[in-house]
Amino acid sequence: MAKLTLRDLDVRGKRVLVRVDFNVPTEVRGGKVRVTDDTRIRETLPTINYLREHGAKTILMSHLGRPKGKPVEKYSLRPIGEYLYSLIHHPVIFSHDTIGDVPKKIVNHMENGDVALLENVRFQPGEEANDPEFAKALAELGDLYVNDAFGAAHRAHASTAGITKFVEKSAMGLLMEKELKHLRDGLQNPAKPFVVILGGAKVSDKIGVLKALMENANTILIGGAMANTFLKAEGIPVGASRVESDKVGLARELLELAKQRDVKFLVPIDVVEADEIRPGANMRNTSRLSPQHGITDGWQTVDIGAATIALYQEEIARGETILWNGPMGVFEIPEFGEGTIAIAEAMAQSGAKTIIGGGDSVTAVKQAGLSAKMTFISTGGGATLELLEGKELPGVAALSDRK
Ligand code: ADP
Ligand code: MG
Repeated sequence: MAKLTLRDLDVRGKRVLVRVDFNVPTEVRGGKVRVTDDTRIRETLPTINYLREHGAKTILMSHLGRPKGKPVEKYSLRPIGEYLYSLIHHPVIFSHDTIGDVPKKIVNHMENGDVALLENVRFQPGEEANDPEFAKALAELGDLYVNDAFGAAHRAHASTAGITKFVEKSAMGLLMEKELKHLRDGLQNPAKPFVVILGGAKVSDKIGVLKALMENANTILIGGAMANTFLKAEGIPVGASRVESDKVGLARELLELAKQRDVKFLVPIDVVEADEIRPGANMRNTSRLSPQHGITDGWQTVDIGAATIALYQEEIARGETILWNGPMGVFEIPEFGEGTIAIAEAMAQSGAKTIIGGGDSVTAVKQAGLSAKMTFISTGGGATLELLEGKELPGVAALSDRK
């Protein structure tokens, strides 16, 4: 069912509660909390600016970190509010209480176009418990609700789902709309060849995604630690590599499913192996992998190899739609990041529609300085994966239907 969007609402003079995802990476420097990656904040600016331009009173809510239902100073949103001020050049009134008299008073004094930010919703136990009392207390602060927190939309919490029961109308924000457009609607009928690149830590994290994309993809390229489980399924010795031994049977099933569906399913034909996962470890490119020639005993895979990079580059160059989630190796260590960067570069040069599916892959693309060359980069992690699995997100499902 189609949902209301921000543009469907008449917001002038209204108090609009907006759930955003300001759960950004921070560090403490000189005794102050600083934002180290502001992408998620910047991505909500279209919604915030739209509301201001249309004369709404904007009340922002977010979580930050995992304070587990009680106030934890380092997870206060106050510095994030200060940061937002520097982006919108308009005061951001901060409420050090999330609900109750303090925010009520603030909200009652707001003028059209003003912006307020409530303290971390996860300082309250009711948030993650999706407690109706807490949801109601939040709802009392506004007239309308907008959810723009795509990164939290896979959670049915008070500020992402429960609150919609206590407001007249609830709609998705502009970022939410954009994420759904690219990751859900745009992948229903993708221009072909549709090439999917999947990597990262675990097969078990991505089974749902693999199965769902098997319906639509022409080519699937596997890398990262999850490739080890597929190598093992093919009888290739994996040495001391990170493997999910209990998922080898499943990997075999997936390889079989790909055959049935006529999906070209490629796993690395060579890898970079290292004797340890640390900078300066001994490392080398293996020869062609086979049941006779696998990873050296006691060594482990840390990246895809040169022949695999060349093979994957060819497939990427042929694609019209390319979706990537999960790095090809331990890219946090530069020596082990070549495969991951090569994939990012191949995508940037492909001329295809390119979509990066969130999490560590996004970090890798940013580090490579290639973000601007991609069609779309998701701000989600878990939410992105759930959407790609074809699941309905609770934070979207709870919004008002479009009549
Ligand atoms: P994403 O966040 O993009 O979905 P994941 O969280 O699934 O990706 O996986 C990212 C992690 O996988 C990275 O920390 C990376 O170091 C790790 N990784 C990738 N390849 C390997 C490997 N061969 N061995 C061990 N860890 C790996
Ligand atoms: Mg990750």
